Amino acid sequence: MSLHDNPPATPRDAAAMILLRDREDPHVYWVRRSPCLNFMAGYHAFPGGQRDDEDRLIEVRHSAGTEDGVMRVVAIRELFEETGVLIGHGVERLSPTRLRQLRDDLCAGKIGFAELLRQEQIELDAALLDEAPRWVTPAAHPRRYDTRFYACWLPEGQQTEILPGELESGEWLRPVEALRKWVDGEVVIVTPIVAALQALAAGADGFTARMHEVGQDERDHLESRVEMRYGIYICPLRTPTIPPATHTNCLIIGGDELVVIDPGSPYPDQQRRLDEVLDRFLATGRRLREIIITHLHPDHIGGVAHLVRRYGVPVATHRLTAEALEGEVRVDRYIEDGDLILLREEATDLEWRLRALWTPGHARGHLSLHEERTGTLITGDCVVGMGTVVIAPPEGRMVDYLASLHRYLELPNVTALLPGHGPVIATPRERILEYLEHRQRRELQILDALANGCQHPAEIVDQVYADVAPALHQLAELSVIAHLEKLIEEGRVSQAVGNYRLAVAAS
Ligand SMILES: [Zn+2]
Repeated sequence: MSLHDNPPATPRDAAAMILLRDREDPHVYWVRRSPCLNFMAGYHAFPGGQRDDEDRLIEVRHSAGTEDGVMRVVAIRELFEETGVLIGHGVERLSPTRLRQLRDDLCAGKIGFAELLRQEQIELDAALLDEAPRWVTPAAHPRRYDTRFYACWLPEGQQTEILPGELESGEWLRPVEALRKWVDGEVVIVTPIVAALQALAAGADGFTARMHEVGQDERDHLESRVEMRYGIYICPLRTPTIPPATHTNCLIIGGDELVVIDPGSPYPDQQRRLDEVLDRFLATGRRLREIIITHLHPDHIGGVAHLVRRYGVPVATHRLTAEALEGEVRVDRYIEDGDLILLREEATDLEWRLRALWTPGHARGHLSLHEERTGTLITGDCVVGMGTVVIAPPEGRMVDYLASLHRYLELPNVTALLPGHGPVIATPRERILEYLEHRQRRELQILDALANGCQHPAEIVDQVYADVAPALHQLAELSVIAHLEKLIEEGRVSQAVGNYRLAVAAS
């Protein structure tokens, strides 16, 4: 089984629209994606989406026959579908009621966009949109987009309206207010949105031109250490991890002083990537305070020794992790449950309050960190952004794991989960409950399998994990054992010479 050779996903073509209003006091429009979506659920975004086959057939004045022209159509159509705002010549002739009717028909598939434009004699015009830079989702993501961003002003007489479905809500606000929400942890947005808001905060006039001045190299750099929230950076590095994950999120957090969490890659090219990111921080006068390890697995510690050698920084982790790593990683400081790691930035008067939580289950010494100001919960491998968490005894214990998930639920102010693998989760409560329900379902299935006469973990896997790739059955078997150990502790299952069966009391 190849653990780390998955090629990156091919980016799909997409377009998004930065919609503005009030030239005197510019406001920008963003939407919140529905918490029910299975991709970027609960994220804030600009209206947009993927190309339809039909988009290619639509004529655009000033940009006919070009790829850019097609993508402008995508941006215009998506804006119309998602917000009800239509950008084009001739739209001003339509009453709000008529426009609403046309949008309903388009969304219901009763009419195509090309036909709608022809019928209402509306002409699209590239000159009505400004072009902002293209942005490609970084290679580590399971789903990637090559997104062209455009900007336009809300036509007079039109209004935005979000219909329930893919989007939950929409909001007009000043760019600085939007950035404030990002700094405070009220929203989860991706890098190009941050970049657009920062450019807009300096004024709407010529903001796309200012964005274009930032070269591709710089954009690549921004994506190599994604700033999910102000001062909270994610540097996904390729590691020998468990599929479908291919990378481990190395985190860099703080202001004047930074901590590095889980530099997990043993590969020299990946370590160089991290060095470059850290060197750029150091060049601005920041200092590295320490390396923090969430837990002992190789894909979370693979780059620790390299960083210690290069930067001479101390290492901190939970005592149990330190003991398990003795002789492998020198740990300078123990982090106990409840400890506070406080980081500050003088210039902005901001602080990052990392509260340590001992969350065993995936590993005995597993630490999570709750950044209390923004409500960002760093989950290590307790909750991940893709795939599932392996609970492998003896290091893994299901009873502890479930208790750790319950502890997450009890924390006040959790606005996002920042996992050890995969994308940030903007719907923390929903995701944690999902995890608990998933384990509960598995447990019931295992009890069923035992009732049907299965006695060995491998038999149970064949029956219960039919949906999991055979290559992962070995890991699944460990999870089954973890479940069985929990059930034995609870007196619901008994074990004799390797054979498991339901305890009499439970049958
Ligand atoms: Zn792990």
